[in-house]
Amino acid sequence: MARVLIIGCGGVASVAIRKCCKNSDVFREIMIASRTLSKCDALAAKLKGTTDTVIKTAQVDADDQDALCELIRSYKPDLVMNIALPYQDLTIMDACLQCGVDYMDTANYEPENLDDPVWKARYEKRCKEEGFSALFDYSWQWDYKDKFKDAGLTALLGSGFDPGVTQVFCAYAQKHLFDEIETIDILDCNGGDHGYPFATNFNPEINLREVSAPGSYWQDGKWIEVAPMSIKRQYDFDGVGVKDMYLLHHEEIESLAKNIKGVKRIRFFMTFGQSYLTHMKCLENVGMLSTTPIEYEGREIVPIQFLKALLPDPASLGPRTKGKTNIGCIFTGVKDGKRKTAYIYNVCDHQECYKEVESQAISYTTGVPAMIGAKMILTGKWDKKGVFTPEEFDPDPFMDELNKNGLPWKIVDDPVLVD
Ligand code: NDP
Repeated sequence: MARVLIIGCGGVASVAIRKCCKNSDVFREIMIASRTLSKCDALAAKLKGTTDTVIKTAQVDADDQDALCELIRSYKPDLVMNIALPYQDLTIMDACLQCGVDYMDTANYEPENLDDPVWKARYEKRCKEEGFSALFDYSWQWDYKDKFKDAGLTALLGSGFDPGVTQVFCAYAQKHLFDEIETIDILDCNGGDHGYPFATNFNPEINLREVSAPGSYWQDGKWIEVAPMSIKRQYDFDGVGVKDMYLLHHEEIESLAKNIKGVKRIRFFMTFGQSYLTHMKCLENVGMLSTTPIEYEGREIVPIQFLKALLPDPASLGPRTKGKTNIGCIFTGVKDGKRKTAYIYNVCDHQECYKEVESQAISYTTGVPAMIGAKMILTGKWDKKGVFTPEEFDPDPFMDELNKNGLPWKIVDDPVLVD
C-alpha cells in the first residue's frame, strides 16, 4: 500500500523497521537511510526472506537538506519517519515541506550545538517567559504548523512511548473515562537490569542531557521548576515492584497542558537506581556531560560525545537486560458528577522483546509506537493537515494497534496515587 523512508538505523529505528516488516500490508516498501550505510545493509540482510516488505537502503546525512531532498525525490515516499536524533528534526521537516511529503518523529527538537547564538537567544527568552529551562521544547516545530497546513501535509510529533503513547492514553482517558481530568501523573518505570554499573537505555547523549536537567511540572497554568532529582517518590509498580522515582521535565507535559482542557497539574516521574544516579552525578561533576568542545592534544572533542564512545552501545544491552518496564498515566478527575481516579499502563518484558526483535524493552516500547503512528497516517485514520502531537487525534485506532503489536495496556480503577 505505502512506501516509507525511514531515517536512522539505531536502537529505536531497528525495532520500528522490524515492526513495519510485520505489517507488510501497509508498509509495502521501505527505505532505511542513515549516516552509516553498513548498519542499514546489515539489518536489511537479516530481514531478507522474512517479510513481504520490499527493503532498500541508502546513505544520507540528515543534517543536509539538499541531500535529503535528493533522496526523497528519487525514492518518492508517502511518509518520512525520522528516527534519527532530535538534532535532525528541523532539517527533515524542511525537506518534507520542500518535497511535499508527510513527516513524523519520536522526540522534539533540540540543537546539537548549544552555543549557537540564534538558538541561545531564543532559548534564554523562552526560559524567562515560560519558566522552564529544558533544552528542548515544542515551539520550534509548532512554528511549522501553518506551513504544513498550507501545503496539505501532516507532521506527527513524538510518536514513541513517552512522548507518544502516554499522550494517546491521555486522549483515551479524556474520551472514555472522564468528563474532566484534573491531574495527570506520568510514571516511567524501568525495572530492567543489564548488569553494567552504568549504561543508558537509549542514545546516551540525549538521555543524559534530559536527566541531568532541572525538573519541572505544570500546575495551575504555569511551570514550576525544581533542582534536578530533588523530588523523589516511591511507587509499587505492577510487574516490577517498589522503585524510587524522580520528577523530571518531559516534553509531553507541554503539549498536554494545551490539549487536555481544564487540567490543573501534570507531572512526570522516572525511576532510577542509586548506581545510575551516583555515576551520573560524578560524570557531571567532572565535566563529562558537557556539550562544549574542549582542546585535547591538539584535537577538539566534545566531552559527552567522548563519553558516548566509552559507554555500552544501548543496542548491545538487549541480550543482557532482564526484568520489565511499566509506563503509564494516573488520572484524577470527575465523571458523571463523581470524583474518579484511573491508571492506564503497559508492562513490557525485556527478554520477550529480545526474543522477538533482538532489542531491549526501551527501544521496543519506542519503536512499536513509531510504527503505529506511521500506520495511522498511512491508512488515513489520523488525517489532519498541520503539525500535531498524538493526543490531538482519535486514540481508539492507536490503542487497538498497541494491543495487536506487542504493547497491551490495562486500565485500573482507584489506583494508589502519588502524593
Ligand atoms: P541511536 O543513537 O541508537 O540511533 C540514532 C540513529 O540515527 C543512528 O542510526 C545514527 O546513525 C542516525 N543518525 C544520527 N545522526 C544522523 C545524521 N545526521 N544523518 C543520518 N542519520 C543519523 O538512538 P536511539 O535509536 O536510541 O534513539 C532514536 C530517537 O528516538 C532519538 O530521537 C531519541 O530521542 C528517541 N527516543 C524517543 C523515546 C520516546 O519514548 N519518545 C524514547 C527513546 C528514544 P549512526 O549509526 O551513524 O550513528
